[in-house]
Amino acid sequence: MSSGDGKKVILVTGGTGLVGEGIRHIIVTEEKREDEEWVFASSKDADLTNAEQTRALFERVKPTHVIHLAAFVGGLFRNLKYNLDFLRRNILINDNVLNTSFEMKVEKVVSCLSTCIFPDKTTYPIDEKMVHNGPPHDSNFGYSYAKRLIDVQNRAYHQQHGCHFTAVIPTNVFGPHDNFNMEDGHVLPGLMHKVYNAKRDGTPFVIWGTGSPRRQFIYSLDLARLFIWVLRDYPEIDPIILSVGEEDEVSIKEAAELVIEAMDFKGEVRYDTSKADGQFKKTASNAKLRKYKPDFKFTPIKQAIKETCDWFVANHEAARK
Ligand code: NAP
Ligand code: GDP
Repeated sequence: MSSGDGKKVILVTGGTGLVGEGIRHIIVTEEKREDEEWVFASSKDADLTNAEQTRALFERVKPTHVIHLAAFVGGLFRNLKYNLDFLRRNILINDNVLNTSFEMKVEKVVSCLSTCIFPDKTTYPIDEKMVHNGPPHDSNFGYSYAKRLIDVQNRAYHQQHGCHFTAVIPTNVFGPHDNFNMEDGHVLPGLMHKVYNAKRDGTPFVIWGTGSPRRQFIYSLDLARLFIWVLRDYPEIDPIILSVGEEDEVSIKEAAELVIEAMDFKGEVRYDTSKADGQFKKTASNAKLRKYKPDFKFTPIKQAIKETCDWFVANHEAARK
């Protein structure tokens, strides 16, 4: 199915954030197709916690396909403070987007979960079948339960109405257009912003926690390429983890060293161990992704961090911070 003139109309909710800007960039530079029209929506186009505004956006755009990114998002320290807001806002946004997609007969919806939402006590590597196996980490239970419900909704819409609603599960994302706010954002943009300030002010660079937790980071442009593939070709309702391999997991200390190198920082480095470490690791398996896309090449993390640091320095005034 497509719009009257045969075009697919793809609405990207949260189209102005880190992941949305990555998809926009890849569509413009690599993946443009004549039979697709892409619409990138921000909260200014509609507050998706509001059912009427959600409906009005869908009536204006008339999407045949939806990539659903809009969410209340943040790093460990924002999650620790606002579990209730993460739970309520995301439940409202997700229910409005999925139900309006159903009512407007959208052909396919791809929503976004996260490896943060997996059980805290688990075996490794984590895979797609383990999403609901036990309570999430205490630090972000609000975000986690709201996101887990998307998977439940996808199955229920499929079972009751035959909808093709599915989801991807990315690891910790970074890249241009990230939220570089030091309190609210994720670790890599936070570290980049701190190194920038330390270099400018001649002050120490302070890394929070012990530096020993481990993460698989994914570059927003790699995630964008995979998201577009999922929208066009992934056939399942069950979600798929979008992650670099287990061997590419790094410690926070190693990630910080890559930021230091990329920004050519020569000053003092400290760890503030009074700050939380959060979940020690969430090592995810990308075996399912590799089954579908055995030849997909991820950008090496050193190059991706360098490109993101360069973007932050070049766009320092305008960047979210
Ligand atoms: P982001 O940079 O914070 O962008 C969030 C987007 O959602 C923005 O476009 C924002 O619009 C929109 N939005 C927020 N509240 C909204 C509302 N009430 N109504 C309408 N739009 C709203 O987030 P991101 O990092 O790109 O995250 C995108 C998706 O990836 C999310 O679903 C997130 O859970 C998931 N994810 C992210 C990570 C990560 O490390 N960043 C990891 C795994 C999964 P405005 O620009 O107008 O504010
Ligand atoms: P998570 O991956 O969901 O836990 O979220 P983050 O992207 O916020 O990463 C949190 C991890 O990075 C924890 O181990 C923190 O202790 C560590 N970390 C070190 N420095 C920072 C920082 O400046 N900001 C953030 N958000 N985390 C930091």
